[in-house]
Amino acid sequence: MKKVSILVPCYNEEGILPVLYDRLSAIINNISGYEWEILLVNDGSRDNTLEVIRSLRDKDRRVSYVDLSRNFGKENAMLAGFDYVTGDCTVVMDADLQDPPELMPQMLEYWEQDFDDIYAKRIHRGKESWLRKRFSLMYYNMLKKTTKIDILQNVGDFRLLDKSCIETLKKLRETERYTKGLFCWIGYRKKEIVFERGNRLTGQSAWNFKSLFNLAVEGLTSYTTAPLRISTIIGLIVSLIAFIYGSYIWIKTLLYGDPVQGYPTTMVVILFLGGIQLLSLGIIGEYLGRIFNETKGRPPYVAREYNGKKVL
Ligand code: UDP
Ligand code: MG
Repeated sequence: MKKVSILVPCYNEEGILPVLYDRLSAIINNISGYEWEILLVNDGSRDNTLEVIRSLRDKDRRVSYVDLSRNFGKENAMLAGFDYVTGDCTVVMDADLQDPPELMPQMLEYWEQDFDDIYAKRIHRGKESWLRKRFSLMYYNMLKKTTKIDILQNVGDFRLLDKSCIETLKKLRETERYTKGLFCWIGYRKKEIVFERGNRLTGQSAWNFKSLFNLAVEGLTSYTTAPLRISTIIGLIVSLIAFIYGSYIWIKTLLYGDPVQGYPTTMVVILFLGGIQLLSLGIIGEYLGRIFNETKGRPPYVAREYNGKKVL
């Protein structure tokens, strides 16, 4: 019998996990012909998530869990999940039920038709602020223009992945992860299904503007070196302008002599160039920081416990 894993990263989700479990088990009990695993990755929650997960496992052995040694962030928690899932395919979903698990039968159907990566695209983003929507739209347009891989908009991590995709994803062990991009990078036969995204059932989204901004920078810098190119181009343009302006001054001085003047212009040029140099240095720094983190070669996450057994 084929085994289907459901992978759920959980960070401070004690309130919702029982609801999630009820909803999931109602669905999977209705689908016959498969073995099931619900793998919950506890990403260093500070509430009672781990206890809730343990009691779920006591009740139902289809529930497995990995407990990480601290909070490593959703991206790394997902990698931990990829390492521990045992299914022939894996459904990745959020704990907050914003992704309707009711789509699973349809995903499985496509999987049986030999698709490897069946992703859910949301047609409506729920009650999110106008600013957030704009920001997200702008960001995806920018990504699309600068990266060579097509990172899909309004597609989250909710998807069914064949075991072959999971094995490939496990090989991509960069520490600064942007999983959404990795899903696109790996390729494979993809299939889209659409759904309407709801709002969080309980609790608060753990993302704030700052973490979204960080994720956005991560997405850009781990997929494209375009910002480096842009700073080169700006540098070239500024040098060209400086050259033309310099020639103009040179000719002017030859023709009319040089009474001392031009303090404001000098200041403007110095400040302008200084700004551009700092900006370019910052961009280089972003990449350098990433190289630095990557060269340390640390594992992207540390697992503490798997199904009640200490991970050594
Ligand atoms: N999550 C996690 N580690 C974190 C933050 C979030 O594992 O550091 C999980 C969280 O429990 C949820 C999923 O990632 O299952 C998505 O989180 P959230 O709903 O806060 O994000 P959003 O829906 O706003 O993208
Ligand atoms: Mg959510």
